This record gives sequence, structure tokens and C-alpha cells, in this order.
Amino acid sequence: MKKKNTALSILNIAEVPVRSILLAIDLFFLSAHIFYLIYFWIKGADVMFFFNIFSVTFYFVLGYVSFKHPGHILSYAMLVMLEVVAHASLAAITIGWSAGFPMFIVCCVPFPFFLNFRKMIMPYLIELVLVADFLFVRLLTFGNDNPAGHMISEQTAERLFVFNTCISFLMITVFSTVYKLTKQLEQLKMKKKNETLNILVKIDPLSQLFNRRAMVDFLKKIESDTRSGRGSYVIVMGDLDGFKHINDTYGHSMGDSVITAVSKIMTEEVPSEGYVCRWGGEELLFAVPNSGCTQGAAIAERIRQRLGQQTFTAEDGRTFGVTITFGVCECDGSFSYERAVSCADQRLYYGKQHGKNTVISREQLPHDALQ
Ligand code: GH3
Ligand code: MG
Ligand code: MG
Repeated sequence: MKKKNTALSILNIAEVPVRSILLAIDLFFLSAHIFYLIYFWIKGADVMFFFNIFSVTFYFVLGYVSFKHPGHILSYAMLVMLEVVAHASLAAITIGWSAGFPMFIVCCVPFPFFLNFRKMIMPYLIELVLVADFLFVRLLTFGNDNPAGHMISEQTAERLFVFNTCISFLMITVFSTVYKLTKQLEQLKMKKKNETLNILVKIDPLSQLFNRRAMVDFLKKIESDTRSGRGSYVIVMGDLDGFKHINDTYGHSMGDSVITAVSKIMTEEVPSEGYVCRWGGEELLFAVPNSGCTQGAAIAERIRQRLGQQTFTAEDGRTFGVTITFGVCECDGSFSYERAVSCADQRLYYGKQHGKNTVISREQLPHDALQ
């Protein structure tokens, strides 16, 4: 893979804690009811004053409980809706329809659609209850705006109407904002998930290098860039020496550790504009655009030396070293990347035939078919 692949580390997206949202909603309702409590007390509207003592206590308790146990959102939401509808209905009956409290019943309409009921029909049933309540309250107040006889002045009713209108609009705005944010968050989550999947599908799980399929895509791109511009690119194929013996002697998992170790060295040594992949079992391949045999061989040599200096310790305490052989091929776009890979492979094979633990490039094979 590319030397620095930051995309893998950006897997988490920020999420607002449920606790904070519940607390904010609770504080909103609590503040509104503290206002009503004081206002109804001043105006001598006893029924609503006492109901608001209940409402304030209710939101205090609900705020505390939902903060401690934020898991029961459906129950909290239903309780809040029940309180809002009860308060609005009672206020409409005792204070009067014209003070605007029935608006809150209408405001509850989108609410059930946010909740995850097990049955799809539930929000619609709740809508029926809401509309029945709304019409029932209207029936009670029809032709007699103040059936309970609190006799609040027209001016007070007008002021309450303005306040209730503002709060109702605020409620709908909050619902709409929550809806919009939820949608955006879902889209963001989906995007990140797709990005992660796109990365994972290209990565070899053991070595954490790009897999062969991803590398072929990179090689095609490097080839097309090279053909449309000038210069060349280099392909270097590496194969661990005597790897079967390592597996047989120290165990398969030790072999895996060796692959991981050499992959790490390669990732560190190949420049960031290059690509490293696990081409097959213990075959690793890297490609560097705008580069040639000299640079490719130098990188391979550094990897070969670093691996040679490393000592591996098996589970039983035995220590051993590992070597690697490389074949290097430069391509200026005049032949295909498949041929360049095959050329690197041939040079690697030549290295295997001539003692292993070496880097074979153009210099070592002056009469190679691909120069
Ligand atoms: P040479 O020096 O000629 O390359 O010999 P070699 O033993 O390295 O090559 P050979 O092709 O005979 O054996 C390669 C071995 O690599 C055989 C296979 O079991 C092992 N191998 C392939 N993939 C993995 C892997 O993911 N993990 C482990 N532990 N071993 C693997
Ligand atoms: Mg090998
Ligand atoms: Mg091999």
C-alpha cells in the first residue's frame, strides 16, 4: 500500500450523545412550563397553575431519569407527548381556545414518526387520537371560548397566543432540524462505511498491504500516466528465500509473522508515491511511478539489508534470520505492465538461481530482452 494511508484511521465519525439531546429537549419543556407556572399563578388560573406544578415536577424527574438511563427513548417520548397534549387540551378548555394552546396538539403530529415503533401503524393510530382530542376540545370550547370561566382578559389571551405561537413554531423547527441532522448523519455514516469497505476490499488482511487486485488497478493507472507523459516507472518483485523451510521448521504462524515483518519494512522503505502489495503467498511487489531501475534497486537493497539484520525468535526460543531476493524492471510505457511484471519475475528467478538474497536489475542482466 502507499506509505502513508491515512484513510484507514478515519473510521469514526462524531456522534452527539443521546443524553445531551434528551437533556436539551427536557430543559426546553421545563423552561416553558416554569414560565406558564408563574404566568398562571399571577393570572389566578388555578387549574393550569396546579397542572404546571405537576408539569415542572414531571420534567425535573424525567430529565434526571433520562440522563441516568438514556436507553428508553420511546417511553420518554410518549410521556412527553402525553404531557404536551394533556396540558394543551386542559389549557384550551380552562383558559380558552383563543389563547392558542391547541396549536401544541398539532405540533405533536410529526413526533410519532420519529419513533421506532414495532408496528408501522402506531404513528397513524396516534394521529387519530390527536385529531380526536383536537376536535373534542374544539367542541367543548365552541361558542364559549372560556368554558371554565377564568375570565382572562382578551389582552392576556392575545399575549398567550403570541407566546404559544412562538413555542409551537420552535417545536416544529426543532423537529425539522432533528430530522435534517439525522438524515445527514445517516448519509455520512453510509459514506464512511462505503469508504471503509472500499479500502478493506483492497487490503490483504495479513500483511496490511494492498492485494493483487488493487495493485493491478494501480499498475494500469501508472501505465496510462506514463504513456500520456514522459519518463518511466519501476516494478520490483520480491520473494522470501527458503520460506517453505521456515514454515516447516518454526511453524506456519511464525511464517505469518515473517510476512508481516517484511511487509512493514517495505511499507517504510517505499516512497509515499509508490505502491506495495502482496502479490501472492510470500511474493511482494512494489511499483514507483516516475522512477527507474537505479532507484528501484536501491530501495530493494535497503529492504534486503534491513531484513537481513533482523532476528526472529520462534515460540520455542530458537532464533533465525530471513533473506529475500528481488527482481527489478523499469518500464517507459513502450511495453505493457504485464510484461514489466514478468520481466521483474524473470530477474527474481535469475537471483534465485544464482544464490538468492540479492537484488537483480538491468546491470546484472545486460542482455535481458527488456531494457
Ligand atoms: P524459494 O527460496 O525458492 O523462494 O523457496 P520457498 O520455500 O520460499 O518457495 P516455495 O514456493 O517452495 O514455498 C513458498 C511457501 O510459502 C509455501 C507456502 O506454504 C508458503 N506460504 C504461502 N503463503 C503463506 C502464508 O500466508 N503464510 C505462511 N506462513 N506461509 C505461506
Ligand atoms: Mg520463496
Ligand atoms: Mg514464491
